[in-house]
Amino acid sequence: MERVFNFSAGPAAIAQSILEKARDELVCYRDKGMSVMEMSHRSPMFEEILADTVAVFKNLMGVPDGYDVLFLQGGATQQFSAVPLNLWAGRGKADYVDSGNFAHLAAEEAKRYGTVKITASSREDNYTYVPDVDRISWSEDADYVHITTNNTIYGTRYGTLPNTGKTPLVADMSSNILSEPYDVSKFGVIYAGAQKNIGPAGLCVVVARHDLLGRANPLCPKLLNWEDQQKNDGMVNTPNTFGIYMAKLGFEWLKGLGGVPAVYEQNKAKAALLYDFLDNSKLFKGTAQREHRSLMNVTFVTGNKDADEAFVKYAAAHGLVNLKGHRNVGGMRASIYNAMPVEGARKLVDVMKAFERIEN
Ligand code: PMP
Repeated sequence: MERVFNFSAGPAAIAQSILEKARDELVCYRDKGMSVMEMSHRSPMFEEILADTVAVFKNLMGVPDGYDVLFLQGGATQQFSAVPLNLWAGRGKADYVDSGNFAHLAAEEAKRYGTVKITASSREDNYTYVPDVDRISWSEDADYVHITTNNTIYGTRYGTLPNTGKTPLVADMSSNILSEPYDVSKFGVIYAGAQKNIGPAGLCVVVARHDLLGRANPLCPKLLNWEDQQKNDGMVNTPNTFGIYMAKLGFEWLKGLGGVPAVYEQNKAKAALLYDFLDNSKLFKGTAQREHRSLMNVTFVTGNKDADEAFVKYAAAHGLVNLKGHRNVGGMRASIYNAMPVEGARKLVDVMKAFERIEN
């Protein structure tokens, strides 16, 4: 069967060449005589895979010295707990910006362990924008500030990062990591679930400034404790070895494309194709406010539920799948992560145009 264009928000599309490489190496990894899945995580052959994965990731992200990179399990949601548990040995206070469903969930989880101040929220407006960070006054005594750089469900993104002074900035970058350049030195901690721009689900990357380790609440479970994980090379227990290997293939693929700057240009081009069409369409319209539009998740509606449903079916019949929007927004969402080629965005525009002609 021919492969479709998969616009899923995650788990999301993976480039075919990555899947083919994984297939070719599945039974016997290089000259090792076994699959990566069968390797001991303590063996030199897996240690080499892990070291290469970390190195290529650091190179792609431009991770400066003084930061640790960990590939952990439990997805981004586990980090909603890990963040306060690791950073709250002192005052037990943090500022959160509520810019979407996952930002909200992160704050709700942190509230279980200490004092959370929601410094700004777009919840009342169904998260159609990201609060203006320049107008937020941050707490003087917060242990950290938490943001979500891209809001997957609502299709919004921070254009400007907040300046939080000495307070470490912690970012959930699950849905736009490696899709555009970020200056890692501006962050205390970055974390991201893998299933959008990195590889298969079940893996989470944590980039933590080294001096922030060692502040964990004594009750922080060992598995969630970044310092314990760092001291054990991310192997407090058996890591997701195959997920790490798949991430490595993904990172190598991205490097081959020209790295983050090159994919960023491609991502801007894909998003522009879709938003330009939406802005000129008589039938479809984007739901996120223009200046906050995501480059990764394009949310749109027709304004009529039946027409939305009909469009999702029509698109699927043309090989464009998983375009149904999240129930909180309705309508459609086209997730166009790094692995979505420009051709996929072009085809989506063509199909929207054809559908619009039928409806009119
Ligand atoms: N944060 C963001 C921004 C997300 O998009 C998601 C998942 N879609 C999560 C967190 C939760 O990720 P996970 O399922 O890996 O826990």
